[in-house]
Amino acid sequence: MLDELKLDVAIVGAGPAGAWAAHALARQGARVTIFDPSHPREKPCGGGVTGRALAIVADAIPSTALDRSTIRSARFGDSIVPLDTDALSVASRAAFDAALLDAARRAGASVVAERVIEIHVDASGIALRTARGVHHARFLIGADGANGLVRRRLARAFRRDQLSIATGFYATGVTSDEIVVDFVADPPGYVWSFPRPDHLAIGICAQADGGFTSGELRGRTLEWISRTQVARGHTRLEPYSWPIPSLSAADLEAVDLAGPRWCLLGDAAGLVDPITREGIYFALRSAESIAAALGAADPAREFTARVFDTAIAELVRAARLKDRFFQPAFVRLLLRALRQSAGVRAVMADLIAGRQEYRSLKWRLLKTLEVGLAIDAAVTLKRVQREKYPSRALTRTPGRLTVTSIDRQPCSPPRAGA
Ligand SMILES: Cc1cc2nc3c(=O)[nH]c(=O)nc-3n(C[C@H](O)[C@H](O)[C@H](O)COP(=O)(O)OP(=O)(O)OC[C@H]3O[C@@H](n4cnc5c(N)ncnc54)[C@H](O)[C@@H]3O)c2cc1C
Repeated sequence: MLDELKLDVAIVGAGPAGAWAAHALARQGARVTIFDPSHPREKPCGGGVTGRALAIVADAIPSTALDRSTIRSARFGDSIVPLDTDALSVASRAAFDAALLDAARRAGASVVAERVIEIHVDASGIALRTARGVHHARFLIGADGANGLVRRRLARAFRRDQLSIATGFYATGVTSDEIVVDFVADPPGYVWSFPRPDHLAIGICAQADGGFTSGELRGRTLEWISRTQVARGHTRLEPYSWPIPSLSAADLEAVDLAGPRWCLLGDAAGLVDPITREGIYFALRSAESIAAALGAADPAREFTARVFDTAIAELVRAARLKDRFFQPAFVRLLLRALRQSAGVRAVMADLIAGRQEYRSLKWRLLKTLEVGLAIDAAVTLKRVQREKYPSRALTRTPGRLTVTSIDRQPCSPPRAGA
């Protein structure tokens, strides 16, 4: 028998984006129903929650209530970057997402533990079908992840070149208070180990169209685990593989975010930093944006403008920097700078905590370096720039070096969809 319910806001997906939007909207008095059959569940993820992300949810999830590892340092090659205790926590996503969903329930949101299998939007509203019935709403929020149904039905699925694939293992029975990041040239990026309270989340990431299968990436991760002994003493290795949106700057500027009765949040909207792969913070920020925009005369336009200001502008800068960031010459320079300069280590600590924006990263780094490193940095940037983007070379103006890219290009707001 079909079960017909009248809802104000329906949210598909109870990850950080959906649960936090449900929490915020329910507190504002909206009638909110969130659909997700998966809880309690682990989600393939490092589980790194930056200080800025924890600050957003601090009132709803007291830090003492969340089982998490406080990270005290980050190891890059043979350099150790000390972190203050507010910089980064690592939590199991089963624990973190459950805490957010509990907060949404306490705020008054209803949770339907069913998968949404079809969506219909017309001028009269939204109809969502699950295996057990049809539900109606006035506004639909798609927070259902990178391959979500809402994006596929109301906008367009991400193309393969807009996704990266993250593959690795949970190493159970071992933990630490240090994250480990090891840069690799092929695929360009890094292998990581993030310690959760009772296991390590270890992984590697590559563009989905980059020519690497999950099996090959997993093999590289295994080889790294064995070579570095990072998981010494583990009891089991549990494999995982999951897509992460990794949009180019141009794709981010044109990404579909919303229409007259719907919007997309978090991974479903493509809001993940293409360098650090931090997505939880942007999921939470996009949830706040829809909570603030839903009462506006044109929620889609208002939401789009807010997401552009709070997420896309920063992600566009990261996307422009990404190719150069992972160039071997730049990585070598970065590792040397981390070894030699306390100032660079401080910048890296702020980057990890989400306190250092890309907007001012390059200039802060250049200001921090001593003369020798600064000259090397300028030369390396110039070489990488020439190799990668011959038309965007560094130009010299009298008395100073000017970089005519990365953070100088205007970002135009993405459009609200039809
Ligand atoms: C290996 C890996 C490592 C990462 N490491 C980090 C990290 O350390 N720090 C960080 O900040 N980010 C990290 N990320 C990114 C982060 O995991 C995501 O950005 C984040 O989970 C996005 O949250 P979300 O709520 O948008 O989507 P999700 O967390 O993906 O939640 C989507 C939810 O929607 C539900 N759903 C899907 N379809 C339906 C449907 N049809 N009906 C009902 N429910 C549905 C799913 O069950 C799921 O619960 C990592 C990602 C990966 C893959």
